[in-house]
Amino acid sequence: MRISEKQLAQVNDRIRALVGAGSFYGKKLSEAGITSVSSAEEFEALPFSEKSDLREAYPLGLMTAPEEEIVRIHSSSGTTGLPVIIPYTAKDVDDWGEMFKRCYEMAGITNRDRIQITPGYGLWTAGIGFQNGAEKLGAMVIPMGPGNTEKQLQMMMDMKSTVLCSTSSYALLLAEEIEKRGIRDKIHLKKGVIGSERWGKAMRERIQGILGIELYDIYGLTEIYGPGIGINCPGEEYMHYWDDYLYLEIIDPVTKKNLPDGEWGEIVITTLVKEGAPLIRYRTHDLSRIVPGQCSCGSAYPRIDVIRGRTDDMIKIKGVNVFPAQIEEVLNQFDEVSSEYQIRISHLDGRDTMRLYVETNGHVDFAELSRRIAEKVKSRIGFTPLVKVVEEGVLPRSEKKTKRVIDERYE
Ligand code: ZN
Repeated sequence: MRISEKQLAQVNDRIRALVGAGSFYGKKLSEAGITSVSSAEEFEALPFSEKSDLREAYPLGLMTAPEEEIVRIHSSSGTTGLPVIIPYTAKDVDDWGEMFKRCYEMAGITNRDRIQITPGYGLWTAGIGFQNGAEKLGAMVIPMGPGNTEKQLQMMMDMKSTVLCSTSSYALLLAEEIEKRGIRDKIHLKKGVIGSERWGKAMRERIQGILGIELYDIYGLTEIYGPGIGINCPGEEYMHYWDDYLYLEIIDPVTKKNLPDGEWGEIVITTLVKEGAPLIRYRTHDLSRIVPGQCSCGSAYPRIDVIRGRTDDMIKIKGVNVFPAQIEEVLNQFDEVSSEYQIRISHLDGRDTMRLYVETNGHVDFAELSRRIAEKVKSRIGFTPLVKVVEEGVLPRSEKKTKRVIDERYE
């Protein structure tokens, strides 16, 4: 999806604001001699912004609106080095709330719902983001914050909460606790809005199995407002995002070139109207793709696929980007294989080769199973791997994170 004329005008407006304020990115643009862009090609040649750069702007170097207009800051977790500080104007806070309200509406949540919010409140964007949107919607908020499961369940029963906002792991913990205590009939939950973690089908099915609720995935990151910039619609797993506030591109994380719609790569986001800290071509390092075509729900907002992980997980082989999650998904379709697998990539006679080792947990014809898996993998990633089926227990186990991809091309 190329950038539209209207979006280009919005980008130019943001470039003017950045340069005018002389903020961190304003200076970078000035130094590069950029004052405006007049075509999609020029836009795609603009420099990227990176989280590591945002740290250099600590504490308030990103501030692009006048100080008197800044009403709040948020910060992304600084696991390594300095945190990133994002200033918000009142309009930014309002725009974010509007986007989040749309997310709730997309999930069929209304002002008759009672929304129990369990993500944390504080410097990060989680709890307060869920709350802003819910208040804009006019729903009743039960602002619990994280932890204290005893009280969570009591309030859930007494307040008759109908929507649970949570991380996937906390939703699972609450679901299992509800099951253990045999209180499902006292719980009124109908929907769960789950944010900020990658989570698998098995976990989703487990939560749904216990609670019998609809689950929605919400997308977002602190640098770009926070959670609430996209959500899946009922019955679909792809997420709609709000292209009147954001322009999304998918790039090849290695060549950094734009990829056509439908191809997998890294999400790059440009904020079109943000005032406090506009970002141009921000590299999220999240892997997804733009889903082409119209959604069955009728919404005209464009869609991205489920986040498949981070760019660090990606392997490039035979010119194709491959993610372990894609292989895992294919293997999940085979009841005869265990959860363990290993991908080995080597370079033989001038060609890249991918070998896929899988364990079987049944009495099967190894050659026949190999052939069927190879066919499925080919239809998913576009080339045929060499599949070796082995007995269960043969592949290495690890107490920590098991290393599943071994790239021998660079050893
Ligand atoms: Zn839809």
